[in-house]
Amino acid sequence: MKSGGKPKNLKENNIRIALDIIRKSDIVSVAGISDGIRLSKTTVKKMIDLFVQTGLVVSAGKGDSTGEGGKKPELYRFNPAYGYVVSIHVTPDSIIAVTTDLNADITAREVASVGTERSLPFIMDRIIGLVRNLMNGKRESGGVLVGVVVALPGLVDSVHGVSIYSPHYPIWGRDVPFASMLTSGLERGLEGGFNAPLFVDCVNRYQALAEREKGVAGGVGNFIIIDALNEGIGSGIILNGEIKHGAQSLSGEVGHITLDAENGPECICGNKGCFEALVSAKRITALARAALGKNPASTLFSGRDPAAITLSDVCEGASRGDELCRTLVADAAKWFVVGLGNIIMVNDPELIVIQGEYVKAGDYFLGLLREGIKRIGLPDVEKRVRIEYSVMGADRGVVGGAAFVIGDFFDKRLLV
Ligand SMILES: [Zn+2]
Repeated sequence: MKSGGKPKNLKENNIRIALDIIRKSDIVSVAGISDGIRLSKTTVKKMIDLFVQTGLVVSAGKGDSTGEGGKKPELYRFNPAYGYVVSIHVTPDSIIAVTTDLNADITAREVASVGTERSLPFIMDRIIGLVRNLMNGKRESGGVLVGVVVALPGLVDSVHGVSIYSPHYPIWGRDVPFASMLTSGLERGLEGGFNAPLFVDCVNRYQALAEREKGVAGGVGNFIIIDALNEGIGSGIILNGEIKHGAQSLSGEVGHITLDAENGPECICGNKGCFEALVSAKRITALARAALGKNPASTLFSGRDPAAITLSDVCEGASRGDELCRTLVADAAKWFVVGLGNIIMVNDPELIVIQGEYVKAGDYFLGLLREGIKRIGLPDVEKRVRIEYSVMGADRGVVGGAAFVIGDFFDKRLLV
């Protein structure tokens, strides 16, 4: 939040700071806020009265009196039901759509699976249908729609709302004006039209915001999430509190950092030895099948069709102590250490959050990463970067998208 020199900006700034304090506290009093931002109680009371009038803040009764015979202070709390967000995540095989309140807590959910029909008009229609259902559901409970957000896989230019390229939906083609197409679709497809802001970005960037809002990165200014799924690796980079996009929205495409151009496996991008190709489900499960019959003590293949072994099976086996699974996960960890080492030396984060399949490998994998990071890239310099697992599940995309919209609403749009 920048502090402007003009009195109007100063006033707006004070309003935002006051509201920020209220949003982050369970319950507040006028005196509490006034102490926090060094404004007179009269000014703060005026602000709160305005917030209460608009419905952003509600009364929370009276507190204990502070002095002998003193008046009991009026208490207030933020009203997260003042507004809502429709947040959508287009995954490689489904569309998750939720509404959240203004605390980014999910209040309703609709999921549509995506099968062989993957064309852009079809996906647009499904999204419009999901938004319509969710908004109809909100008719009774009320609240202001503060924005719609769509988290997409692949390269996204969030400024222009363009899906540059989606490896999971190649049929869409390149440079799809996703935001403007969806806006027109919603204007046509919703009763009463559509006039809320609409945002799109790469899901990994929103997943980073989810960690800051609800996960293990609360209060951390410099951190990176690495999401390793069966299909590939994505990342979201937050430096000095801001999400990074770069000149061409390539920032965070760490899956295609080349780690072994000579001998590495082919990647879906066409190159050899990309980070994501080396730790991919495809490579690790192929290594597992190549070891079939050579590790009689391993239970990886017990009761399973070798062709159906998944990365998840291997990771869970490693967590349980299965030696074959540990060897396979150690191979992936070796490449993770090189990849993360490069990412750390370029970005210098305080924290790296691992999301996705490898979380299932538990302390074993995390231990290998933490040890490995110490030995690479200036081994004599103590690297204080922490590596942690995400505790967020499959909702991290929609929660992060909602957190982005809520941040935009309170930081840029709301003027009481
Ligand atoms: Zn690649």
